[in-house]
Amino acid sequence: MLTPAPSIIERLDPLVANQIAAGEVVERPFSVVKELVENSLDAGATRVDVALTEGGRTLIQVTDNGHGMSEAQARLAFERHATSKLRTAAELARVQTYGFRGEALASILSVARVELTTRGPDDDTGVQLLGGGSTTLEARPVACAQGTDLIIRDLFFNVPARLKFLRTPATELGHIQRYLDAVSLARPGLHVSLRHNDRKVFDRPPDDTLLARARAVFGKQVAGRLFVVEGAGDYAVTGCLTDPGLQKRGPSHVVTLVDGRPVRDRTLHHAVAQAYGPLLESGRYPLGVIHVRCPPGAVDVNVHPAKTEVRFLSTQAIHRAVDTAIRHMLARAPWARDGADGGPTHDRGSEGAHGRSGLFGTTAARGPRD
Ligand code: ADP
Ligand code: MG
Repeated sequence: MLTPAPSIIERLDPLVANQIAAGEVVERPFSVVKELVENSLDAGATRVDVALTEGGRTLIQVTDNGHGMSEAQARLAFERHATSKLRTAAELARVQTYGFRGEALASILSVARVELTTRGPDDDTGVQLLGGGSTTLEARPVACAQGTDLIIRDLFFNVPARLKFLRTPATELGHIQRYLDAVSLARPGLHVSLRHNDRKVFDRPPDDTLLARARAVFGKQVAGRLFVVEGAGDYAVTGCLTDPGLQKRGPSHVVTLVDGRPVRDRTLHHAVAQAYGPLLESGRYPLGVIHVRCPPGAVDVNVHPAKTEVRFLSTQAIHRAVDTAIRHMLARAPWARDGADGGPTHDRGSEGAHGRSGLFGTTAARGPRD
């Protein structure tokens, strides 16, 4: 039951404020990995290595070769609303970095034990900052390579209520792996690896093309069945999708990226289903990735604390761009031309909730070439 609050107003202690912010930003090990990897990419890293134990519950380590930080900068990085990525609200409309809210490190520090090792480009030695569950940090000089290494131990050690909500290590690992797959597809040139409980999950050296990266991500069974999707225009589309002989229930095997960000978005998935039309059974999707680059100012990325959702200025424009690019691919596809495809073969099961109608009304299923 909700009860009336006492009427004395006081400013919250910074630690408490950070812990409350952590409620949104740091929901689970997956969110910590996401925030740290985004920071590494924002720091210009060409290599990011992630290691976990127990699905990240006891340890999350993210190591990068980005530009690193000086000691003063590193201390500041753990303060709430401290960011190097944005100075004015107007910049929000054109933000080119993953981060900009200046909340992640402060939030993480308030709910876990943190060990940061970093060295900036102008520094001869590195610095290590240690802390957790408070706003104070201990510093000591260390020898280290340029870049940043963050170790997060015992997530939510001081927030038992949160600990109870944690899922199994396998579930958490699954989320983290899917996220890193999406990052791998967003940045084919990034060297990215994942280890879990001291065992390699994957290690992906840089790839030259999105297709090569998608083959690595989706694996041998799918690799030869991926076709390149490309569309020029205000909304530039790149990607690759499987022939309809390989289709899955629900859209979760189509990774959707907007301006380099993995996003959950029904518009893009709807456009995929619409473009394939009757080639797919209702509620089924191909496998692959669709990446849309939007004109400046056309996407609002500040609508979700964890930034996994975005808002488009024109949903129709982005939908049309994706639909057109995929139809183009389908019209040229060898299996569509010579009718070699013997019809969909896939795992049968109950239909997914996400059908082909709803978002834009019922869409009459249209063929790839009409
Ligand atoms: P935000 O990313 O929104 O700016 P964070 O709390 O995630 O907020 O990080 C605060 C600041 O710390 C960043 O703006 C950046 O300058 C610095 N920083 C964080 N992680 C790294 C890293 N891996 N390499 C270099 N700088 C980093
Ligand atoms: Mg950040």
